[in-house]
Amino acid sequence: MHSCTPPQPTEKPKVEIENIALKIRNEFFQSDMPTSKKLAKMIERLNGKVLFLENTTRTESIEAENGKFTIFLPHGTSVVRDNFTIAHELGHYFLHLKDRVTGTCETISCNRGGSDRLEWEANWFAAELLMPKQEFGQKAKELQYNHEDLADYFGVSSAAARVRLKSLNLI
Ligand SMILES: [Zn+2]
Repeated sequence: MHSCTPPQPTEKPKVEIENIALKIRNEFFQSDMPTSKKLAKMIERLNGKVLFLENTTRTESIEAENGKFTIFLPHGTSVVRDNFTIAHELGHYFLHLKDRVTGTCETISCNRGGSDRLEWEANWFAAELLMPKQEFGQKAKELQYNHEDLADYFGVSSAAARVRLKSLNLI
């Protein structure tokens, strides 16, 4: 095992991280495909791949090396949950791994419920990538703040849509 410094949070304000995610969304989400397809296309363009974990003791994570990356997902979850996990891991990629300095570790194992800033930043990124504030606000109005309809529209779980409604003070 070689030693390396763990990746560090950007310490950027939330709004700045959301702007990064929105720019990336505008660059990569240019079609009418379902969210899972858009993410798959995006990962392909970025030279990445997604693997499902055989070993249940390992958690969802991302490994980046030499301009390539692999996202590891647990087995047996729903497509919409996978969408959010993938978006979260892409957050780690863009914020914490892509421009890593020499000597930084290449792997981030996630503890999404965790309170460390690295995880928060990836969650802010994921929420904006999949449910951009402005568009989400408009759709929420159109769909009468129904979190299940919003979840269908944005390709996320209804729990994630509800959290978004709350965090944007829409309900
Ligand atoms: Zn994470």
